[in-house]
Order: sequence, then C-alpha cells, then structure tokens
Amino acid sequence: MIDAFGRVIDYLRLSITDRCNLRCVYCMAEEGVEWKPHNSMLSFEETLRLCRIMAGLGIRKVKVTGGELLVRKGAVDLIRRLKAVTGIEQVSITTNGVLLDRYLEELASIPLAGINISLDTLNAETFHSITRREHGDWPGAILKTMEQARLLGIPVKINCVPLKNINQDELCDIAALAEKTVKAVRFIELMPIGCAGELEPISGMELRLILERRLGALRPAGEKPGNGPAAYYAVSGFAGLIGMINAVSEGFCESCNRLRLSSGGLLQPCLSSDISLDLRSLLLSGASDSDLAGAVRELVGRKPASHSFSGIYGNRRGNHAGKAMSRIGG
Ligand code: SAM
Ligand code: SF4
Repeated sequence: MIDAFGRVIDYLRLSITDRCNLRCVYCMAEEGVEWKPHNSMLSFEETLRLCRIMAGLGIRKVKVTGGELLVRKGAVDLIRRLKAVTGIEQVSITTNGVLLDRYLEELASIPLAGINISLDTLNAETFHSITRREHGDWPGAILKTMEQARLLGIPVKINCVPLKNINQDELCDIAALAEKTVKAVRFIELMPIGCAGELEPISGMELRLILERRLGALRPAGEKPGNGPAAYYAVSGFAGLIGMINAVSEGFCESCNRLRLSSGGLLQPCLSSDISLDLRSLLLSGASDSDLAGAVRELVGRKPASHSFSGIYGNRRGNHAGKAMSRIGG
C-alpha cells in the first residue's frame, strides 16, 4: 500500500493484549488500565484473518507487541501461525522479557526475525521503581535470557527509554551491552503519552553527548538492522550497534511505514492520531474480505503526514494525556 504522501506501508505493529505484568512509569498507570474484557478482544482467528487481508495489501513485516504479549495464552502459537501467512516475510516481538525464558526455544523454532527486549536499568532497585513490580532475580534473569536467545541464534535488540534522574547514570552501561551481548541497544526518546507527561525526558542530542563522553564517537552505521525508525551508530570495539529513536525531537514521519492494530481491533495509521478504523465492528457486522480490504486501504489514504507531539520541552502532556502506550502497543 502507498499512502497519500508516497510512503510504502508494509509494516504492522500488532498488539495482542493491553494487559501487562509490569507497570512502567512512562507507559501504564500504577493501578493499570481498565482491561478490555476478553470477549471484546479480537480472537486469534479474527487476528489471523485480518493479517491475511493486510498481507494481501502489502504488509510484509509484523511486530507482535502489547501490553505484554506473553501474558496472553497461546501467544506463541499465534506467532507461529502468523509466520505461515502467505506474504508475511518477518515476524518479530517486543517484550519486557520477564516471561521470555519459558518460550525461547519454541520462538527460536518458528523462527522469529528478532526479539526486542525492553530494559531501562541494570539495577534491581531502579528496575523496581521504573516497573513498580519486583522480583529478586530482576533484571539479572532478563540479562541471562538475552544471552540464551543469542545462543539460540535469535537476534536481540534492547529498547531503553532514557529518563532524567532515574536511569541517566546507567545509559553508558546499558549501551555497553552492544559490545558483545546484543545486536543493538536502541534508546527511545520518551514520548509524551499518558503518564509519561509527568517524567523528565533526555533528548537524543543530550544522550549522544552522554554516550560519546564515555564510549567515543558514534559513527553512522552503514547497515540498518530491523524495520523500525531508529538511526544506527557504530562504536569502536562494539560488535553491536547503538540505535536512537528520536521520535519527538527529530521525528521520522516522512519514512513511516507502519500501521498499528490494537487487541480490540482498532487499526491506527499513527500513534499520536485519533484517526482509527474499528475492524472488529466490521468483522462482527459480517464484512467480507474485500469490504475489510477496502476499509484498510481507505484508512491508509488518511494516514497523517506526521505525528502531533507538541515538543517534548514545551507542553509535554500535549493532547495525549488520556492515552496509554500499553494500549497503543508502543
Ligand atoms: N511490554 C512490551 C515491552 O515493554 O517491550 C511491549 C509493549 S511496550 C508498550 C513497547 C515499547 O514501548 C517498549 O520498548 C517501551 O519502552 C516503549 N514505550 C512505552 N511507553 C513509552 C513512552 N511513553 N515513550 C517512549 N517509549 C515508550
Ligand atoms: Fe508493560 Fe511494556 Fe508498558 Fe512496561 S512498557 S508497562 S512492560 S507494556
């Protein structure tokens, strides 16, 4: 599919649940979000039908996400079936890593194109204060799981959200995991959605200064591992890369290739926009595959030119305060 601005839309972020076993301060309120009842979520059959239709329209890569996808029963089986859909070339996942070890071998056998693991800190106390959940083994156990994934041949990337006065002193240590352990460490600028508006961001430019002071120059990398919007940099002596997703301070909307499907069946052309298509209602009303394909095409035609974050140093809450990233799928 090609949108009104000439962008090729071939990437779907598929959220299969809005539930999560953590409560990250930038993503979900401490009390959680109001869970969608199971009967208002897309079933796996409905999800696969929509993915088959979108693959027919040109979607080639799917990132399965949430909430935390691994809390939904049958998630790995869904991923296996998704990988078998004609036209879908790559399936990858984004997870907090907490439940990952028990599913790793099965995921490796699919095979997955990659796993993104969110890790904002290497310190147990900070992990507790960011995620508002604790377990004696975190984050050490998650680091061990990353190593197991590497040994199983699954490419692993780390996602880290830099936060002033919370993990800013650890950012170089987290970046250093790209030296040997993971394919890339990607730093995502804090997006002012929902509860994130209360937090102090670190911009990509500030982060670069912090990293270069200790690691030396970040040199633009020739390769781009993955389908996302990150700009990648090489560091001398590192096998892996450093990625920066400066969604707010720089933006990358001109090359945006994605759609987002929520667990409740809402298809969104942009994370910050209120434009959406209620595919679940269409399914329930008995829409045919060609009706659904036509509606998706029409939505793609309305994909906005760019997001509407209002500048991270200005009014950080913007008009996104009532949203939750866990529901949108990150
Ligand atoms: N539970 C999974 C996880 O944590 O990786 C997948 C869902 S989570 C919503 C997807 C990604 O969105 C995570 O890497 C998380 O760090 C990121 N994220 C959530 N809220 C964010 C925010 N306000 N700004 C920037 N990134 C955010
Ligand atoms: Fe859960 Fe991921 Fe959101 Fe953290 S970032 S609360 S792990 S969905």
